[in-house]
Amino acid sequence: MIGHIHSMETFGTVDGPGIRFVLFMQGCALQCRYCHNPDTWSKTGGQSMTVQEVLAEIEPYLAYYKLSGGGLTVSGGEPTLQAAFVAELFRQAKERWDLHTALDTSGYCEPELARDLLAHTDLVLLDVKQMDREKHRQLTSQSHDRIFRFAQELKASRKSVWIRHVLVPGWTDEEQHLRLLGQFIERMEIVEKVEVLPYHRMGVYKWKQLGLPYTLEDVEPPAEEDIERACRFISRGRDEAGDPQDPKCRKNKCE
Ligand code: SF4
Repeated sequence: MIGHIHSMETFGTVDGPGIRFVLFMQGCALQCRYCHNPDTWSKTGGQSMTVQEVLAEIEPYLAYYKLSGGGLTVSGGEPTLQAAFVAELFRQAKERWDLHTALDTSGYCEPELARDLLAHTDLVLLDVKQMDREKHRQLTSQSHDRIFRFAQELKASRKSVWIRHVLVPGWTDEEQHLRLLGQFIERMEIVEKVEVLPYHRMGVYKWKQLGLPYTLEDVEPPAEEDIERACRFISRGRDEAGDPQDPKCRKNKCE
């Protein structure tokens, strides 16, 4: 089986627990205005590799992944666009080495296409972008309906989930959206961690190289207090949706 690979990182430390091998897949159907990897959007680009070839890249570093409580993360682009390849990669990594597997996804995938992949996934990093349908479309070019169908599938699967949210001033920082996001997180019931990530401009040069118009030129990264404010609104949303007697509702809401 062949996968279209954008790049790989042997010592990732931010995409899941411990030290991780991070594989970035080609292809994404969204066009987030703040995307820092627009060079992954094309499905046809990248390097063609077999599952065996990817496993051979992982093998030399296995001791680091195992000892640190890490593993293998597949990111993108959008890894679910190559769900069959990623499922086979995860299946073999578990069978051979019992390696922890994480899927870093926007959730823009019809649930039935991801079922086999989720069966071999230990942790899902779900990047939720905007709770308002129209604003989501303006920000990413697509509605979020499919993402919420995917989230329902995740909830039913009882997989471990970390929610990631990129805080983009003027686009994803309004109170209403953040409180709805908090309610959504609480209702999923399986979210172990919430990460609010500040918008940054490190990928802007790629847009320029690709000749794509970058529409957030006037948006500055959020300040530390903006992140704290966002966490407060998300926590408030969780309180609104959660059981006030449940101690989980009151701690570790946001990092
Ligand atoms: S989902 Fe990720 S890879 Fe796709 S456009 Fe958005 S930020 Fe970029």
